[in-house]
Amino acid sequence: MEKQDIRSFSIDELTGFLDDLSQPKFRAKQIFKWLQSGIEDFSEMTNIPNSLREILNEKCYIANVKIVKKFVSKIDGTVKYVYELFDGEFIESVLMKYEHGYTVCISTQVGCRMGCSFCASGLDGLYRNLTASEMLAQITKAQTDNNIRVSNVVMMGMGEPLDNFDNSIKFLELVSHDEGLNIGLRHISLSTSGVVNGIEKLAKYNFPITLSISLHAPNDKIRNSMMRVNKKWNIDALLNACKEYQKVTTRRISFEYALIEGVNDSNECADELARKLKGIMCHVNLIPANPVKENSFKKPNIQKILRFKERLKYNGINATVRRTLGADIDASCGQLRRKHKEVLLDDNTQ
Ligand code: SAH
Ligand code: SF4
Repeated sequence: MEKQDIRSFSIDELTGFLDDLSQPKFRAKQIFKWLQSGIEDFSEMTNIPNSLREILNEKCYIANVKIVKKFVSKIDGTVKYVYELFDGEFIESVLMKYEHGYTVCISTQVGCRMGCSFCASGLDGLYRNLTASEMLAQITKAQTDNNIRVSNVVMMGMGEPLDNFDNSIKFLELVSHDEGLNIGLRHISLSTSGVVNGIEKLAKYNFPITLSISLHAPNDKIRNSMMRVNKKWNIDALLNACKEYQKVTTRRISFEYALIEGVNDSNECADELARKLKGIMCHVNLIPANPVKENSFKKPNIQKILRFKERLKYNGINATVRRTLGADIDASCGQLRRKHKEVLLDDNTQ
């Protein structure tokens, strides 16, 4: 029989599982706490009888990630990790330090099927979804490796969280549990390229997370050229879903806008964007696009970026330019993993 992913179990699921093994209920909470704390082996569960540890070991496995590469920024201490999963796949995570504490940016899939033209994560398509436990493990590994406590999480690494909906929901429930890592949902952001049916489903949970929409363009013509997902759900459909989401959750929505020179950075784009976002309580994060080796686009110069921001503000839209962390250690999501794979496949690549 295939071993079960016990680290993805909720306390209720653990209770049922232990009940089937004729074990007392109170063990569920104890085991849950251990699993959420980031232990790597059942032998570390010191308050659980040996006999039960052995049964668990027979029937279950503890999902984890292994550090295969680690880059520490000399500028700001940002740490980027390439992690290996049990099946030899690679993902990446980033640990960032802000005044208010530590934030981890986690991956939700190996690769991504959305295929946005500017993004390295989607270049080879989707390999597989991550389990909730593999999402959690990225946080606990960063915590133990640096001896710190993570206070904020952004689901903005590799992958589209709403294309891995059930595992992403499970992750949110586990990571915010007060017997587990207890990271409040208000301290978690979920970023989506605009998977409208996922946004609609997510609204039903009414989580107080921050929903972040990777918009990147003010109209369908430009967005279609950058993001395949726009052909399925265009900007109007996406913004309508955002309005409905906001009606239910009353949460401010974040819009990500990666500025690419000559593509989406004109004054007209800023004005059109401001018109489109009218009526949505929101904040725009301007990101200077990170050049990807496989593409030829460039980011605009800083004057142009600031002008875009001022233009949005003039039109009544709140905007900030995202601070670049770890500028010296590597580029944006998906690129580290690709590099690492290339090195593995061909030692002459770097
Ligand atoms: N799939 C989700 C979350 C992961 S991507 C999404 O697309 O929202 C996280 C963010 O990085 C998204 O806003 C994405 O558009 C952005 N991004 C990807 N490649 C980038 C690049 N080369 N430069 C700047 N931002 C990029
Ligand atoms: Fe996937 Fe997000 Fe990259 Fe698009 S930007 S390919 S949705 S990870």
